[in-house]
Amino acid sequence: LKSPYAGGHLEVIVGPMFSGKSEELIRRLTRAVIARQQVAVFKPALDDRYHTASVASHAGRSLHALPVPDAAAIRAALNGEGPLLHAKPALPDVVGIDEAQFFGPDLIPLVLELADAGVRVVLAGLDLDFRAEPFGVMPELLARAESVEKLSAICTVCGAPATRSQRLIGGQPARFDDPVVLVGAQESYEARCRLHHDLGH
Ligand code: ADP
Repeated sequence: LKSPYAGGHLEVIVGPMFSGKSEELIRRLTRAVIARQQVAVFKPALDDRYHTASVASHAGRSLHALPVPDAAAIRAALNGEGPLLHAKPALPDVVGIDEAQFFGPDLIPLVLELADAGVRVVLAGLDLDFRAEPFGVMPELLARAESVEKLSAICTVCGAPATRSQRLIGGQPARFDDPVVLVGAQESYEARCRLHHDLGH
């Protein structure tokens, strides 16, 4: 009998900021590394929250990852056209990608191709943006995944399970139509439940 996960497949880990997506990704990938599987880890180059060449959780755990500008760079790295962490010349057993919401639509054909080729693909990313709208490529990835884990954080206002990321500008709730990049503004994020997610209207 073939187990459902014997071949390639797609696993997606989602939730708001601070829900432990990076922690869960690191946990799954570390187990694969311990099992002596070839593991390649990628993250968007723009995410320079912690060390540039690793996936890091807010709790401080980390794993080496290759920062890439786009999905084409992941394809190039897997084809041996660049440095590839943890992986041999052949396709790795496992491909992990953190902050998947920041990739463009070409991430989808790439991960489907990898899964079809027998690779276990594990993605982590925000399902919703700070407006609580579906984030970029994530809805389609969720639909196409064999396995989906939706994590929650702790609401910083009431302690309930938090499913949303509250954006704050100068300590005040960001408005729905505030620009994504605000020069010179003091910006921060908090995990919030549905009730305490505030779009400033
Ligand atoms: P994500 O990748 O989803 O942003 P991380 O794995 O980086 O999450 O971080 C999760 C960690 O963030 C938790 O283990 C905890 O230490 C910390 N944390 C900070 N604020 C919160 C919060 N409001 N709710 C839950 N965890 C929080």
